[in-house]
Amino acid sequence: MEMDIKTVGTAPDIVGDVHGCIDELIELLTALGYRVEPGAVTPPEGRTLAFVGDLVNRGPNSAEVLRLTMSMMQAGQAVCVAGNHEMRLLRALRGESAVPREDVARTVMQLDAEGIKFRGDVVDFLQKLPSLLLMDAGALVLTHAGLKTPSVDGEALAPRDVDVLSESNGKRDKSGQSPRVNWAAAYRGQALVAYGHTPVAEPTWLNRTVNIDTGCVYGGHLTALRYPELETVRIAARQIYYPSRRRFLLNPKLLSNRSLNT
Ligand code: MN
Repeated sequence: MEMDIKTVGTAPDIVGDVHGCIDELIELLTALGYRVEPGAVTPPEGRTLAFVGDLVNRGPNSAEVLRLTMSMMQAGQAVCVAGNHEMRLLRALRGESAVPREDVARTVMQLDAEGIKFRGDVVDFLQKLPSLLLMDAGALVLTHAGLKTPSVDGEALAPRDVDVLSESNGKRDKSGQSPRVNWAAAYRGQALVAYGHTPVAEPTWLNRTVNIDTGCVYGGHLTALRYPELETVRIAARQIYYPSRRRFLLNPKLLSNRSLNT
């Protein structure tokens, strides 16, 4: 995984953590006006799809999410930054993690079922993901978990300013969770930073930052932020695919299903 920065143009539809939720991703793309056909996705005129990372693991179909994303990137229709789950998957695929976590092992099995060629293409794709994307001439920053240096702005950003993991201080609290630094509260830049990583019930704006990880895989929503319109579009998760260790608000659809079942 390179720690580099790429600069790209055009109006992005920025998608939060997908975690293998292919059905919700396709529903979201359709809601955004993308034409989704077997093996091909066509964006609306002038739009680009942009992912803030964590495409994979925990959810039902990481292989299909990768297939869709990789083909759109190859066609110049999508961009993506690396999330911590891309890094976990890459380590597992390279045999660098002694015992991959269960959710990562499940993704590896899905990739193996697709054949050796696809698995190789995925390794290639993961290796090339940047940790930071600058769009709209530096007015928009995409990163997975946030910035380590909240005072630095747009084009002045360097790879060392990026916090891909945000789990990186290595400390755990009593419940076994790694406390997350609220870098957004300290952010003073002018560039809008769109990111994910820490699931929130609603897209959360603070200073010039917005967290769009609304925890689809945990039974929340899959959210897209349309830029420069700054409108959000969201799709309710069809089920809880993975239990959240954090207190997490289920989407209303699942809440009502639940009350029916119990
Ligand atoms: Mn995530």
